Amino acid sequence: MADYQLFIDGAFTDAASGETFATYNPGTGQKLADLPKAGRDDAIRAIEAARKAFDEGPWPKMSGAERAAKLRRIVELINQHSAELAELEALDSGGTILKAQMADVPGAVSAFEWFARMAEERPDRVDLEGSPFPVSQNYIRYEPIGVCTGIIPWNFPLIMAAWKIAPALAAGNTSVLKPASLTSLSALKLAQIIAEADLPPGVVNILAGPGGTVGEELASNPLVDKTAFTGSTEVGRRIMQLASGTVKAVTLELGGKSANIVLDDADLDLAAAGVLWGTFFHGGQVCESGTRALVQRGIYDEFVSLLVEKANNIVVGDQMEMTTNIGPLVSRGQVETVERYVKLGRDEVGEPLCGGSAPEDLPDHLDKGAFYRPTIFADVDNKAKIAQEEIFGPVLCVIPFDTDDEAVAIANDSIYGLAGGVQSGNIERAEAVAARMRTGTVWINDYHLISPERPFGGYKQSGIGRELGTQGYDIYRQVKHVHINPETSGRDNHFHYGVLGV
Ligand code: NAD
Repeated sequence: MADYQLFIDGAFTDAASGETFATYNPGTGQKLADLPKAGRDDAIRAIEAARKAFDEGPWPKMSGAERAAKLRRIVELINQHSAELAELEALDSGGTILKAQMADVPGAVSAFEWFARMAEERPDRVDLEGSPFPVSQNYIRYEPIGVCTGIIPWNFPLIMAAWKIAPALAAGNTSVLKPASLTSLSALKLAQIIAEADLPPGVVNILAGPGGTVGEELASNPLVDKTAFTGSTEVGRRIMQLASGTVKAVTLELGGKSANIVLDDADLDLAAAGVLWGTFFHGGQVCESGTRALVQRGIYDEFVSLLVEKANNIVVGDQMEMTTNIGPLVSRGQVETVERYVKLGRDEVGEPLCGGSAPEDLPDHLDKGAFYRPTIFADVDNKAKIAQEEIFGPVLCVIPFDTDDEAVAIANDSIYGLAGGVQSGNIERAEAVAARMRTGTVWINDYHLISPERPFGGYKQSGIGRELGTQGYDIYRQVKHVHINPETSGRDNHFHYGVLGV
């Protein structure tokens, strides 16, 4: 495996302390690489480099079209390295190689492409019509915010890195990124790719290291203007506190416990596939997973049987095999979290209808792997802990309801509000339900489809602000109102100065 280093101020370097940490394949338990473990010193150096690049360098002054050209160069290079990136992502995160090839690498590419378009197409000056004062000309300038830090989780490392770096750069900011310690490989590989694109030094800095030191520095350092965080709600609260010291702009993409509502007019086979796809894709380690299936009582028994029958056909195994549907979870620690919740579920609800353990028939080379079977609890009370708390693993709670009103009430009875689904044969009825769900995304007869071209983010404790879409570009820009009084001498249009008698 190639060597990886921190990327600070346009150069590759080891951690100042010389410390390293190991990263593993969660399927086999084999070590993949030793990585430099950045500390606060490295984080401060990266932030200072980004500050200098913003205050003195050419990047924020370049035109949108010039920056777009650089982002497109990054796209070309990602495409050249796509096979290696996909392999690293699958090996390190446990996501399947199919997902890495079909979603992770193309997802990173499309984020850079979209924000390149935004840099070209979104105006950085808008003249305002009319005047609210006797005489004035007014316009808005959209300006970069400054130094933007990004802190990301382990479930979609490459895509998350792209979602933080691409919009920041497109809008003229400089960036410092910290990937999650369990999955830093693809971000460090991305650093090598970005280095090839020859951006001015300090515009992008990427460092692997612990949240408690590097992450805290990125969220609190006074030289930072904005922090964008994706991760758990618990750490999101801490990020807000840290950022409040210098009142930084904050974007938070946090946890979820999304409801996928199955109405009694749905095509049951399609809806069952939709619910399983919505829950078990990537082993349920997706923030917007539909981990609560709300099923209308008239179809409930038949639907639950279908779910269990289909769930038992999902192949759990080596993430590097193209025939595998779900690879290992990200770590043994994550399996332990799932086991704790399944035990709680057994106490609260009873025996799951399927799953509830690791697969028994895995080949020898996977016997240390972090595997868990798709697990379904039926007849769950929405007040149960397994229906309220984010598990972040392959566990589905099925909850019955009678009326559409009740489905909406149960769906909204959560501290989270990231996403949700409605499965129905009647689009009008589904839209009426969707309109009342307090979440940032609702998929009707679908799930998990996210594009950089559409905004993504949460209501309630699922987050603040939106990433992606035009909103996800504008959130990386400051708004400056410029007012011009065209009267350069005389007082006809300055009569308000008379209020002071001057
Ligand atoms: P996490 O909150 O434990 O860690 C996320 C990142 O924060 C990591 O890089 C970690 O090192 C860092 N961190 C930890 N403590 C920190 C601190 N005190 N200060 C600064 N940084 C700190 O989350 P995770 O376990 O890596 O990922 C799973 C979570 O991420 C789930 O809750 C999931 O819902 C959420 N998530 C949300 C979205 C979204 O878009 N809403 C997307 C993916 C994942």
